[in-house]
Amino acid sequence: MNQPEYEVFALRYATLTARTAGENFLFPDDHAAPMPIDYYIWAIRGEGRTIVVDTGFSPESGVRRGRQSLHSPETALEAIGIDAATVADVVISHLHWDHAGNWEVFPQASFHLQDSEMAFATGRCMCHHVFRRALEVEDVVGAVRNVFAGRVRFHDGTAEIAPGVSLHLIGGHSGGQQSVRVPTRRGWVVLASDATHFWANIRTRNPFPLIVDVARTLQGYEILESLADGPDHIIPGHDPLVLKRFPAVPGHPDIVRVDQPPLG
Ligand SMILES: [Zn+2]
Ligand SMILES: [Zn+2]
Repeated sequence: MNQPEYEVFALRYATLTARTAGENFLFPDDHAAPMPIDYYIWAIRGEGRTIVVDTGFSPESGVRRGRQSLHSPETALEAIGIDAATVADVVISHLHWDHAGNWEVFPQASFHLQDSEMAFATGRCMCHHVFRRALEVEDVVGAVRNVFAGRVRFHDGTAEIAPGVSLHLIGGHSGGQQSVRVPTRRGWVVLASDATHFWANIRTRNPFPLIVDVARTLQGYEILESLADGPDHIIPGHDPLVLKRFPAVPGHPDIVRVDQPPLG
């Protein structure tokens, strides 16, 4: 049976330039060199459907945490013809502050979330400062409100949410980090989100230091590799190289097509 082929977009909405390589790896890395981090949401389009992956940080959180906001997520989506107000499916890869703000921007959406991520974000792990500092309590309250509004679709592991499009529980980085596998013209692309922040994390098997379970993170790299058709088919969550390596949407340098082959 032929798989559908979707368009897949990575949309950069913010950046943080004042960051060194040593801050992006768990195990000692002797690089004091700058290694900026970018912030993305993603969009999947095809088969008459639009799926948004992650909702980005809220303007208040961005200001409080000193990130350079470039576009609001809804403006970025608008640039590729997606009206956030009408999107029916939003995947929340995990509930960290930079992935799960702005619930109100998607008033029609069902939100796809792993059981284990909700348990993580509302349970005993949040008694520890090192874990809860990566979340915003108002975002978690927003998630709970959506549960009570009947708008969260919970998953426990692998789930197909559209023909050929599936969610995969990775864990490791947070309690229930999930990644999204999408069939495209160039094969299986995996939107890893924070299952690997940079290509360098997965390539050197040296995780990003914000981590709940090191072993699961390392095993997660193997899952990502088994799901994707090659190393370039795994799209990391925060890597500025994504914008450099894939063709931009004309007129929008912060938006690239990751369903198309990398440049050069
Ligand atoms: Zn994260
Ligand atoms: Zn993140």
